[in-house]
Amino acid sequence: MNQRPTPPPHAPVLAFDRQGGVLTIGGRDVRDLVAQVGGTPAFFYERAFIEARVAALRAAMPVDIKLHYAIKANPMPAVVRLMAGLVDGLDVASAGEMALALDSGMSPQAISFAGPGKTDAELEAAIVADIILNLESVGEMRRADAIAQRLGARPKAAVRVNPDFELKSSGMHMGGGPRPFGVDAEQVPALLEEMANTRLKFHGFHIFSGSQNLRVEAIMECQEKTMALALALACHAPTPPRMLNIGGGFGLPYFPGDRHLDLQLIGRNLDAVLAQARSHLPADCEVILELGRYLVGEAGVYICQVVDRKISRGQVFLVTDGGLHHQLAASGNFGQVLRKNYPTAIATHIDQPATEKVNIVGCLCTPLDRLAEQVAMPEAQVGDLVAVFLAGAYGLSASPSAFLGHPPPAELLV
Ligand SMILES: *Cc1c(COP(=O)(O)O)cnc(C)c1O
Repeated sequence: MNQRPTPPPHAPVLAFDRQGGVLTIGGRDVRDLVAQVGGTPAFFYERAFIEARVAALRAAMPVDIKLHYAIKANPMPAVVRLMAGLVDGLDVASAGEMALALDSGMSPQAISFAGPGKTDAELEAAIVADIILNLESVGEMRRADAIAQRLGARPKAAVRVNPDFELKSSGMHMGGGPRPFGVDAEQVPALLEEMANTRLKFHGFHIFSGSQNLRVEAIMECQEKTMALALALACHAPTPPRMLNIGGGFGLPYFPGDRHLDLQLIGRNLDAVLAQARSHLPADCEVILELGRYLVGEAGVYICQVVDRKISRGQVFLVTDGGLHHQLAASGNFGQVLRKNYPTAIATHIDQPATEKVNIVGCLCTPLDRLAEQVAMPEAQVGDLVAVFLAGAYGLSASPSAFLGHPPPAELLV
């Protein structure tokens, strides 16, 4: 009998197959993967999942939309190289990410560098590499111009705009109101006027409003407003825009009750938005969706091992060798207001029914180090493997790995 267990409330658990009662990733028994990388804890990212996700996006979005990957979501070099072959461009936010992007084989023309607080050294490295600068302020523009003069270069520069609206219901707001990101929309005309007298070649606009959004209507409304703002600002530009990066913000269903975004709806709406905008844009102007989490988040699983099982005042605690030093987000300490459980499972008893409520904790000596609280699980013993799903984005690189001095986890693209 090949019977699927009761569907869990989280889709990502179902996205992975199982064999003989054990979780598989990329078709391989998770115990074999653990042995291959030399033990737990470890992050595994499924190549086929990422490829399928990019294909699904391409199928749903207008054909003339370019897809970029924001490396911040998962900077593992093997993942970045995989992405370089799947998407149309890479977005970086530090010199370190820029080096990764250039190593991936992606053309410099398809790499853009955003982020507040770019140092002169970073600006110079980006100008020498001939990648696109997404300018975050007038001051940054002037510094970039001075460097360009010294180098005799003519760098491409886009203006990151802090819009006069927000992406509603975002997990993290990155536009609207006072922000360290981008140039306030009302200040952009003056900046563009000044840019016309610099060595910078105006390239376009970058408007990124927010992250982790699960409301299709909010995303669609934001895309409409973003396009309208870009077209209005383009009237002040020294040359027509070659690129409009309209952001992304597509969210993932992390918690019970969350639903996957309806990509078809977003795609159809974007089609209409683009069709209207195209008549005001040069034919070769690229319109870019920039996504991180949505491309890689569900492809990753964090695997740790139960090192102790104990009962405290009536509650079961599974103490693992993993924790928030690798996967801060699952502990609830990265952007969550009310702590909720990420989808978790006992990877070595994946098909067994839940028989007890447990707390799954990490090995750090702090009460913050919780991976799951009061979740129903099959009985697990010392040596069993725990899987924390949705670990492909903002996992290892967004966690305080030096905290408490444990060794780093392995990472493998399967
Ligand atoms: C963080 C960030 C992204 C990626 O956001 P996701 O929510 O992971 O898709 C894209 N662009 C910019 C400018 C960012 O800062």
